[in-house]
Amino acid sequence: MQQAQPITIFCSRCGQSMAVAPEHMNRVVGCPHCSQHLEPWRVAAAGAVPPPLQAGAAYYPAGYSSRSKVVAGVLGILLGGLGIHRFYMGYIGIGILQILVTICTSGVGHIWGLVEGILCLTGNMRDVDGRPLRD
Ligand SMILES: [Zn+2]
Repeated sequence: MQQAQPITIFCSRCGQSMAVAPEHMNRVVGCPHCSQHLEPWRVAAAGAVPPPLQAGAAYYPAGYSSRSKVVAGVLGILLGGLGIHRFYMGYIGIGILQILVTICTSGVGHIWGLVEGILCLTGNMRDVDGRPLRD
């Protein structure tokens, strides 16, 4: 029986490399160095053998969010007062807070979301896991 080659991935938090068995590539694994939870199919090193993926899954550069800065930015600029970009980035609590602030300030609070939308577009916002938004 042929032994499957482990695939080298890099931790998105500490940057250390680790070997992941191909059959584990489509599960969440813990970094042995810093115990960060990693999605190996998202952080697979360049040139790695693609694991069997579910339809719709995609590769992103190591350490980057699966969420797009353009999507987050446009949502923030258009719907920032409703915190939609925050929900998109995974910050449920802050999204709800932005809705409340917008209501309590009769709409003036939407400037908060608008500014954050611009920050998303310029690459200055991170998702709820602390990863920079991808292009
Ligand atoms: Zn790590």
